[in-house]
Amino acid sequence: MKIGILGAGIAGLGVGHSLINEGCDTFTIYEASDKVGGLARSFKWHGFDCDLAPHRLFTEDNEIREQMLALTPMHKLRRRSEIYIRGKWIQDPVNGLEVIMKFFPAESMRIVWYYLFRDKHPETSFESLVLNQFGKGLNEFFFKPYSEKLFGVPADQISPVWGRRKIRVGGLKDMLRRKSRLYFKEFYYPDQNGYGAITNALFAKVKNYVQLETRLIGLEKMPDSDGYYCTFQRGDEIISEEYDALVSSLPITILLQMLGKPLNLSFRPAILTYLLINKPRITKNHWYYIADGEHKINRVAEFKNFAVCDLPEDKTVICCEITNTAGYSVEAVINELKDVGLVDPKDILDSKVVKIPEAYPIYDLQYENQMEVIRDFCLTQPNLFLIGRNAQFLHQDVDEIFATGLNVAQQLLQQKEPVSVSIS
Ligand SMILES: Cc1cc2nc3c(=O)[nH]c(=O)nc-3n(C[C@H](O)[C@H](O)[C@H](O)COP(=O)(O)OP(=O)(O)OC[C@H]3O[C@@H](n4cnc5c(N)ncnc54)[C@H](O)[C@@H]3O)c2cc1C
Repeated sequence: MKIGILGAGIAGLGVGHSLINEGCDTFTIYEASDKVGGLARSFKWHGFDCDLAPHRLFTEDNEIREQMLALTPMHKLRRRSEIYIRGKWIQDPVNGLEVIMKFFPAESMRIVWYYLFRDKHPETSFESLVLNQFGKGLNEFFFKPYSEKLFGVPADQISPVWGRRKIRVGGLKDMLRRKSRLYFKEFYYPDQNGYGAITNALFAKVKNYVQLETRLIGLEKMPDSDGYYCTFQRGDEIISEEYDALVSSLPITILLQMLGKPLNLSFRPAILTYLLINKPRITKNHWYYIADGEHKINRVAEFKNFAVCDLPEDKTVICCEITNTAGYSVEAVINELKDVGLVDPKDILDSKVVKIPEAYPIYDLQYENQMEVIRDFCLTQPNLFLIGRNAQFLHQDVDEIFATGLNVAQQLLQQKEPVSVSIS
């Protein structure tokens, strides 16, 4: 079976690696850019390994963790992170008791009052889900401003599916007891070369099967079989290939548009601002959230705090993630950092900007209906396999995609039904 794999992020590289392990070498991986790794790549800057915003490995699947550790040497770190909200720093994950004490009396009483006397709403949006579980006080304090900033969509226009996936606590009581799957205390991080070491290790195994700077520009299903005609562009050259099966990690909107099925879904871009700072460290945290709506930064990562390898001692590099990009400038980012007390502008030595066009699949109210459309369409395409964050339109981490890659490789080799697109 001749297999075409689209994209050389964790999804494409993971499937290729699993195919090789199973003795299959009749595949080619096509990657539009000149480097592999996609969203999970890293780059060197002023001697630091920089990721695309904070990346860490946390999985409850022991088998996947062991396989990933065998692939890439990693160390375990105890999570250190904080949240800036309404002018104060609090622990991350949120400790309900700390919130109540730090924001006593007005905000705390509002949170508790609205929690105790909350109304029941039909669960039609993210906002109604939060109102049911936490009440208006905590919604307005944290959930609404942060989600609106992240997606650029009003909270009552965000799908409740987002809430079900991300809010794994049952309500304020669970929050007080810190009872949630999201409350991981430790995570893994590669010993060398940043989080991108994981995709680099996979690339080392499948290098001979990867064609870089080769972008898919056209796709058609063959009329008389379940295979596909693919058209690629590499520089000025146009290349046509036929494949019996196709594995795609490309954004689902782009792929289905090529197959004549436009979707009503969109992605939220992000701008990452990297700053070189003339100080040994700004804090000991791995990352910080800035939850307020009036600040545009979502998260800040300090890479030195993830590393165990030798790094410049007298300097540090941070990365600020912004999805509310209207009126973006590096100066505005620096002013916000000054405002929250993280950085003094005079300590900044250099800056670098990286744009991610498809950072977050937006879970708006079309989400569930559009996932049905995708599912139905996939049933008519038995040899099309969708895998990865943007291909499945699902906020997934590297470990989850790696696990799906093993599964896709098995299905390809057994020529079973295609992987269905999950929305749960
Ligand atoms: C801000 C942020 C923070 C994250 N934090 C974490 C974390 O802490 N831990 C974690 O494990 N995960 C994290 N993730 C998720 C993780 O980075 C992604 O889920 C994962 O890297 C996605 O891999 P992928 O292979 O599905 O897609 P991608 O990495 O997007 O790979 C797709 C590839 O396809 C290529 N491509 C696109 N169009 C074409 C075309 N027409 N032809 C050929 N190639 C094409 C792209 O260049 C890209 O290389 C985070 C993601 C983001 C955005």
